[in-house]
Amino acid sequence: MLKIYNTLTRKKEIFRFSKNKTIKMYVCGPTVYDFSHIGHGRTYIAFDVIARYLRYSGYKVFYLQNITDIDDKIINRANEEKIDPKILAKRFEKEYLKDTKTLGIKSVNKYSGATQNIREIISQIQRLIKKNYAYEKNGNVYFDITKFKDYGQLSHQSLNQLKKAVRIEPDASKAHSFDFLLWKAKKSGEPFWPSPWGPGRPGWHIEDTAIAERYLGLQYDIHCGALDLIFPHHESEIAQAEAISGKKPFVRFWLHTGFLLVNGEKMSKSSGNFITIREILKNYSPQAFRFLILSHHYRSPIDYQESLMKQAESSLERVSEFLEKIKKTKNKKQKTRARIEALLIKTRKKFFQAMDDDFNAPRAIAEIFNLIKTINPMAGNLEKKEAKIILDFFKETDSVLGVMPLRKTGQIPDMVLKLAKEREKLRKEGKFEKADKIRQKIFEQGYEIEDTPKGPQIKFKKIYGRTRSPTRH
Ligand code: AMP
Repeated sequence: MLKIYNTLTRKKEIFRFSKNKTIKMYVCGPTVYDFSHIGHGRTYIAFDVIARYLRYSGYKVFYLQNITDIDDKIINRANEEKIDPKILAKRFEKEYLKDTKTLGIKSVNKYSGATQNIREIISQIQRLIKKNYAYEKNGNVYFDITKFKDYGQLSHQSLNQLKKAVRIEPDASKAHSFDFLLWKAKKSGEPFWPSPWGPGRPGWHIEDTAIAERYLGLQYDIHCGALDLIFPHHESEIAQAEAISGKKPFVRFWLHTGFLLVNGEKMSKSSGNFITIREILKNYSPQAFRFLILSHHYRSPIDYQESLMKQAESSLERVSEFLEKIKKTKNKKQKTRARIEALLIKTRKKFFQAMDDDFNAPRAIAEIFNLIKTINPMAGNLEKKEAKIILDFFKETDSVLGVMPLRKTGQIPDMVLKLAKEREKLRKEGKFEKADKIRQKIFEQGYEIEDTPKGPQIKFKKIYGRTRSPTRH
């Protein structure tokens, strides 16, 4: 029985849901003004595994993620780089999608950008004004917090407590200091869209409820983000959606990931501890990064240190060695079949139990490692059928986790093969610098090239244990 910790009730609740219906799941996506960092990686890997597990458990899931492609940070960065904010956002949206692909995040059904939903955003604001929850002043539109009595239900604080907890920028147009922006009047040099209140752009919170309404409706099942979004972002989303629909709850289950810190501190450009996903993948495999993330419960903080990546690589190296050993089978019948079958049944049950307990991936992974430990002494001595059921078990559980070194050389993706060919051509032409760049790209896909007397060989497994980026030609 699946239990999920719900931020709204602060309890683990039984997830009762018909398997004939589709779970509607929404995850707050990134603000695309720079390369994604490992904190993003943490949050999106965690929700990828949650969506994968729901599907593995037999549920149908529609997973929607927004892309914040218009925002102050985007405009500021675009001004610094002297380019159009829309071009900057598009560029980093593409880079984000590349990173998620490299990290094996494949559970999202639909991505949708704020700027693709301006009509929906305006329609929601119009309804809020009509219902008297919002007001216009000087081309800005604000949500009137005093009209929504339940503000604070998700962060479990009264409005007064919230007011003390945050610093509010003074704004003479607001009726109450705590009211938040739904529509921002155009400032010179900023992108804008026409609206009933004059040219401008959407506020942050309204983008999510508008995109969600378009694809999921005004009430749905699961909404996710990292801990920092509980207040004011998710709190304000509830206010908007419940004010429009007049129905409660907007969302049944609210899930929040813990923060990824770097050496105990919040990641930020100014403190110099900002690490992008790209940087990590120069030296380590995507599977190792996923492994590191999944060896922490999604609600726990992660204090990132490079040594954790090394540990993750060596844990995967152990799995890799085990799987290689398994594949060396014997022809004669062994007496271990019944024992192995029983072990697999027990481990599968424990895997389910762990994941059913608020998606406890670290416990699920520990069960797999216990299995390896138990089978390891007999691993080099198995018959074909035994090896097959063990490998099938790894493939099955890895359809949820996406961390195991399971791919064989024969299954190298076409894209990697194409890159390898391109690299070989460049090498032959003596363009070693360019060839090295391609080698790096191949490495980031989880493969390594070894130049042998017979020509270049692409390998998957050997990547584990590496701690440095390849630079050889
Ligand atoms: P942003 O790009 O800042 O809009 O963030 C996109 C998503 O990543 C949100 O759910 C954030 O809460 C989450 N996020 C940002 N930084 C971190 C971090 N250091 N650790 C975990 N999640 C994060």
